[in-house]
Amino acid sequence: MISIPFPPQTDNAWRDWVADCEVERNLLIAAAAAGQHRTIKSSLYKRQKARFFAMSNGKCAYCESFITATQRGDVEHFRPKNAVSDFNFNRVQIPVVNGGFRPHPGYYWMAYDPLNLLPACIICNQVSGRRPHTRGKGTRFPVNGQYATQPGEELLETPLLVHPYRDQPDEHLRFEPNGVLVPLTPRGEVTRDVLDLNRDELVSNRRDAYLDAHALAVNWALSAASNAPDVHVLEQQLGKHLDGAKSFSAVGRLAIRKATERLNTGLSALGLIRRPGNGP
Ligand SMILES: [Zn+2]
Repeated sequence: MISIPFPPQTDNAWRDWVADCEVERNLLIAAAAAGQHRTIKSSLYKRQKARFFAMSNGKCAYCESFITATQRGDVEHFRPKNAVSDFNFNRVQIPVVNGGFRPHPGYYWMAYDPLNLLPACIICNQVSGRRPHTRGKGTRFPVNGQYATQPGEELLETPLLVHPYRDQPDEHLRFEPNGVLVPLTPRGEVTRDVLDLNRDELVSNRRDAYLDAHALAVNWALSAASNAPDVHVLEQQLGKHLDGAKSFSAVGRLAIRKATERLNTGLSALGLIRRPGNGP
């Protein structure tokens, strides 16, 4: 997981969508207040799917796998829209006014909230397997303390999952050159486990990405030192890692930093180190 910028969207299609979402959000809130059911419209929250995936460079916002080439991917609700489960897949119960408990209804009021909608792969997002081998986020949403159950209460809630738009993932998650993710905080630990971010395939892919990026950085430095004709192509590829456009950019950036550190002493002494993107 890396930080995904969410710049202000100002075009008409976005404004129209936000307006439509606001209408539906108000209808959902009114229905809930009246004790009625109103179906959440997937066609509405998916209308900006292409935009969400463009923001993440076609990658899953959680695991950084490039997915748009091989699967349609999901528009995932960070706060689940219809039901809420805890870390152990048990449905969260909330107290009711007259005593007793009822299942959490889900964060229905955030079903169309742009900052609650993330591009995700089906393995991170959807539940699969039988207990105790069940994996995938599904409706899980662990929090520290009480759950928000009404519109606005989410501002007082403390999610344990790291949010790629709102949080700085590198404050909670660190990657090793061998592809293993190491949590730095309790939130990082929950995020790793809920999303199964150390599954074998991801660790293997991240290890490969690290080695590829490291070799790329070395090749670039050597090309730069000899003013080889491919230096600009290599520079562009390095830039894709640094910009987050490559799969597993978190480890790609790590590899470039490590390679640069190793090369820095010798090449900088010769005045041959240049930063990628700065040109010749
Ligand atoms: Zn994923």
